[in-house]
Amino acid sequence: MSERTNTVLTIPEPGVARTIDKPYPNVVEGFVVVEIAIAPICNEVRIFRDHQFEWHDSPDHLGHEGVGTIVETRPGSRFEVGDRVIVFQGNSCQECFVCTTGLSPTHCLGIPYEGYDDGMAPQDVIAGLLGIEKANDSASGGFAMARYRLAPEHMVVKLPDGMSFEHAAAGNCTLGCTYTANEEAAVRAGDVVIVAGIGFIGMGAIVNALYRKATVIVLGRNEYRMDLCRELGVEHIIDPDHPSWLMQVHALASDRRGADVAIECSGAPYYLDRCLAGLRRYGHLHSQGFLGSGRYGVSILNDIMDRHLSWSGGHDVRFRDRDGLLRMMGDPEVQRQIDVLNTHSFPMSQAQEAFEVGLTKNCGKIYLRPAE
Ligand SMILES: [Zn+2]
Ligand SMILES: [Zn+2]
Repeated sequence: MSERTNTVLTIPEPGVARTIDKPYPNVVEGFVVVEIAIAPICNEVRIFRDHQFEWHDSPDHLGHEGVGTIVETRPGSRFEVGDRVIVFQGNSCQECFVCTTGLSPTHCLGIPYEGYDDGMAPQDVIAGLLGIEKANDSASGGFAMARYRLAPEHMVVKLPDGMSFEHAAAGNCTLGCTYTANEEAAVRAGDVVIVAGIGFIGMGAIVNALYRKATVIVLGRNEYRMDLCRELGVEHIIDPDHPSWLMQVHALASDRRGADVAIECSGAPYYLDRCLAGLRRYGHLHSQGFLGSGRYGVSILNDIMDRHLSWSGGHDVRFRDRDGLLRMMGDPEVQRQIDVLNTHSFPMSQAQEAFEVGLTKNCGKIYLRPAE
């Protein structure tokens, strides 16, 4: 079997995507090998454009979302070959307070966000994706945009019988992190929720808020994506450039003068300004988008204290939300909405074209199929 290979996606330079062959993964106890059916595209469109990588990515280590079928296990595994699964990202420590209280693996103390300037190498971060290859002494498999992926067993969940890969693949950065955002913001039936800066994460936030029977107000301008929002079931789309946009928000928020929750999905100051302005007193802003590591200014007195706003953000699905997320994704209306927001699907051999579509922004979520 030593000549078996793994097809892996690379972005060797800006604007270029191609596949290469690497050795088939080596797998140790505690991990499984998943043949990836769908690796959804996330931050890789930006990497394709700018060739700037997040700490865990590199030109031939790409992708963190995915669903597929287990093709190899180690003795003692609780999985079987043939199990259809979703892989959540990372390799959290399972020991820190984040892990043991069911919070998000991406925020595990095993990932030293506070210490990157100290020069820790990504492969030494065992909780990260490159660390997965190191832990397995493997030359491939830590990442999703590959035919075969190594996954820590605690980051793998079996799919309910009958759930298609196309629907399950929305469970990472589309419906997953936004499920957690809606939970953390305690969105309830009847709440007014602003979703601003609409890409696939915004669409995920919308599906989650509508599932909770909130009134969703979209702030957005891209007509292709506004049409998708209407198809998702959004009834209130406000052009944030319109002089009366804030009055329009207030008109939908009865006597509270603002939305209960705002979920900001772009990181753009333009939308952050409007989310803060559009919230009611005691409202909550949840950030699901970012532009690099740039800073953003707020007035502590006028924005936060006088109006008593709170603000949080995150990247990921909490452990404790996995069950509810999968139940939600079994809902027929949610599955219809996933079919709407998943606008494109390409063989991974055509990733170049997939990323070029991503750059046009005339798209929702784009899927890659690594086996093709
Ligand atoms: Zn941990
Ligand atoms: Zn993602």
